[in-house]
Amino acid sequence: MKRFFLLGVMLCISQVKALPSHNPVPGGIAVLEIPANSSARFEGDPVLTASDSGKHYAIVGISLSQKPGLATLATDSGQVKFTIVSKNYLTESLTIPDQSKVTPPSRDYPRIKAERAEMNRVFTSFSQDRVDSTFELPVTGRTSSSFGKRRILNGLPKNPHSGMDIAAAEGTPVKAPAPARVAATGNYFFNGNTVLLDHGQGLITLYCHLSRIDVKIGDKVEREDVLGAVGQTGRVTGPHLHWSVSLNNNRVDPALLLTSDQD
Ligand SMILES: [Zn+2]
Repeated sequence: MKRFFLLGVMLCISQVKALPSHNPVPGGIAVLEIPANSSARFEGDPVLTASDSGKHYAIVGISLSQKPGLATLATDSGQVKFTIVSKNYLTESLTIPDQSKVTPPSRDYPRIKAERAEMNRVFTSFSQDRVDSTFELPVTGRTSSSFGKRRILNGLPKNPHSGMDIAAAEGTPVKAPAPARVAATGNYFFNGNTVLLDHGQGLITLYCHLSRIDVKIGDKVEREDVLGAVGQTGRVTGPHLHWSVSLNNNRVDPALLLTSDQD
């Protein structure tokens, strides 16, 4: 018999956050109560689960391209229905001095494709580790571009902004927001010097445009361990950290995982 757990649980957590914020919008996170010890899947992908105060939750990443409306989480014992509400993101126009980073020459296509596959391999990985999903900001600085903005680069409409940009001086240390394992590092065409961290259960974070990388694949990092430094490698308008957070292979707003409020 199928059991339906209608609607998720609105979580209002003030002081210490043990779970991300419930914000079921495209590019957001749904925090849904599920039966104890159940696993969960959304759109076929395994989903992070966590317990808090004796209850068990699925922490579901929602794609920016997800249509608002009724959605279904599959659990071991049935389905949980929840509603994804619409959100309007602002548009920003940027001028990238290096036009080849906006319309790459065809000789760079194989490299771009290989790098995308490498990142995808990490984004789709799912370890069974216990996960700490409350994050500190990886660098101190001003949020220069928030998640989800629709982007026009040198007059061309591009994919929406898949992370949070934090402006800081070149060389400012970039720190792990929570414990993790280094899943990949590289010098990528668009992202420049890049580190990917695996926090477990499909929670992956990405650090781009670094001036240097201080970790290597397989390293275990603790909260606030230095990963590298802010730079301006790859497609940039100036030195900043581009920080992405991925849950069940959907890029979500990093602000939803921070222990302190940040736009
Ligand atoms: Zn960015």
